[in-house]
Amino acid sequence: MSDQAFEIICPSCKQALPANALACPTCTKGATPRATATRTAVVELPSPPAPRVESAKTMSLKDYHRRVKSNHRRLAGPADEGVVRRGDSAARTAAYMIAVLVVVFGLLLGASAALGWP
Ligand SMILES: [Zn+2]
Repeated sequence: MSDQAFEIICPSCKQALPANALACPTCTKGATPRATATRTAVVELPSPPAPRVESAKTMSLKDYHRRVKSNHRRLAGPADEGVVRRGDSAARTAAYMIAVLVVVFGLLLGASAALGWP
């Protein structure tokens, strides 16, 4: 401590720390000089969590398409048949409506012509 111009005081226990200490030896269990600190730091580095799904940047094109298709199937429903059937019935209903409107318009035209209305 003689070569050190200042002392580092631990804020919790108010004791002077050793010059090479990374943490307070009385507060933390066991002294942590730099050598053991770096060694334990290498050991105790938290390993990054394993990626749950493969990244889209690294996967192949086939896997990417498969994943997009499965994701779409999960979001939009089990199959595309329902969508096709729904669109088909909507188109059929629209065709029926157009036909009915044409028939009604023809009847109105015929009635106006029969009644002599301008
Ligand atoms: Zn302390």
